[in-house]
Amino acid sequence: MTVGHAPETVELLARAEELRRAGDYRAGCETARRAADLARAAGDGAGQAEALRSLANQLLRIGRQEEAVSACRQAVAELEALNDGAGICRVLTLQAMPLRDLGMHEEALEVLARARDIAQSLGDQDLLYWVHNRTGVVHGSMGEHALSNTYLSQALTMATGMDDEARFCILNNIGDNATYEVPRLRRLGAVEQAEEMLVNALTWVAEALRLARAAGNPFRESLSLDNYGVLLALAGDLDAAAAQLEQSRVIAVDAGYWSLESSALQHQARLRLLRGEHEAAVDGLRLALDRARRVGEKPMVMEILRELSEAYEQVGDFREALRCYRDFHDLERELHNQVAAAKARMAAHHFELDNARLEAENARLEAELHRTSMVELAAANAVWQRQATEDALTGLPNRRSVDERLPALAAGSAPLAVALADVDLFKQVNDRFGHPVGDEVLRRIAAIFLDGVRDTDLVARLGGEEFLVALSGLRAQEARAACDLLRARVAGYPWEQIAEGLSVTISFGVADSTGADLGLGLADQRLYEAKRAGRNRVHAH
Ligand code: GH3
Ligand code: MG
Ligand code: MG
Repeated sequence: MTVGHAPETVELLARAEELRRAGDYRAGCETARRAADLARAAGDGAGQAEALRSLANQLLRIGRQEEAVSACRQAVAELEALNDGAGICRVLTLQAMPLRDLGMHEEALEVLARARDIAQSLGDQDLLYWVHNRTGVVHGSMGEHALSNTYLSQALTMATGMDDEARFCILNNIGDNATYEVPRLRRLGAVEQAEEMLVNALTWVAEALRLARAAGNPFRESLSLDNYGVLLALAGDLDAAAAQLEQSRVIAVDAGYWSLESSALQHQARLRLLRGEHEAAVDGLRLALDRARRVGEKPMVMEILRELSEAYEQVGDFREALRCYRDFHDLERELHNQVAAAKARMAAHHFELDNARLEAENARLEAELHRTSMVELAAANAVWQRQATEDALTGLPNRRSVDERLPALAAGSAPLAVALADVDLFKQVNDRFGHPVGDEVLRRIAAIFLDGVRDTDLVARLGGEEFLVALSGLRAQEARAACDLLRARVAGYPWEQIAEGLSVTISFGVADSTGADLGLGLADQRLYEAKRAGRNRVHAH
């Protein structure tokens, strides 16, 4: 995927991912955003999408879920333009996570369904693994732990042979799900099933913890320690559980992962409740509540409020228990409204994105259209220009062109001679051989003239069978010889090739041209004299 990116983009992308793997998400976000900006400026859509994915992946770890969703949508738009199905699938799989955090479970399952379709159509097992994994996580958040377990187990069987990051995620997720599913199965009386799940989950989370430590990622270490602690508590090993949870909490405090700190505090409080240390449990839950409120993750705050309410009840403080219970319900309503508002905001943002994209496309098309019409216009202009100054039959400059160019030629410092040439008895040519032969004669004469003059001379057709030859640097007397050569070439041309019995001659009248008098009147007069003198001759005086 790095092919085609600018070296600076490649470097920033690598750095952003490095920071992500190290759990330094704030710095990672900043770096990823710079990579995205750079790639966008360079018109590198693939680079932009890659940077946006890294950005979204890190935004969601630091509680900026709406921004994460928006980054995913931008990335998908870029990848759609590139027709990159696998890329789209990866981003959608990621997008499900912030959507879930925002309580938008339906939307999360929708993007996952789309991702699954793509993964299946590509036959890509790695992509399908991530889709199953995340689908399991979303169902878990919806309280559908049995369904969650089905997806996660499926993903687990697919994870063998995948990289450590993928294996960590599934091992930890399935362990996390077990922390809910084991108590539920126990409540249902499915004790054997619950114990089997617990034993497996302990093994998996221990392995996840090992992978997190090997990768040197404190976020993952704290996360898996938290799950491990809860599972140990479910297994009845309260001391070991307390030790794991404390480790999780310390790492979270050090790195500033407030949601993980809150989670560890909450689970430590549960242990205290189990041990009958109700007062300490209340204190712990209050601290957990504070951390969760700082992150702003309302589902987590609600869970703590419910537990705190129960803890107050156990210590006999019914007033506080009721207060927490009320807060819980207020928050539930607030969360409901917040989800609706977030949906509206994101829809508006989505609309803005679409709009911006459409506008950019529009501007591009308009510029294209403008460019095309300018090219067409220039071509049409060139045609008109040619038509206006060029004789259609011979391709020579026409009278109009002569009117434009001759004065300039005559005004120069060098002398200029003008010769008017008129085909002799041309009417007879037309009459005897037909008009098309007459036309061909005119074309051949044009060619003979062009061939016989210098580049600096001007040959034009003034109309009918009348031509002009302007000879630069020559006076009329000197031009006479040049014109006589042209006359001789016309007379000696093998006209029989065109029509049997055809012969053509031409007469010239030559005069000096000056800036004041172009000499055309005198040349015409001399031409008339040449005709009168018997035609096929040049008169220059
Ligand atoms: P002169 O030697 O006195 O010039 O005799 P002429 O027959 O050439 O004189 P005139 O000016 O009477 O005839 C010119 C003829 O040229 C008349 C016209 O039919 C013909 N003509 C003018 N333009 C064209 C053209 O574009 N093609 C053809 N084939 N004939 C043309
Ligand atoms: Mg003529
Ligand atoms: Mg004529």
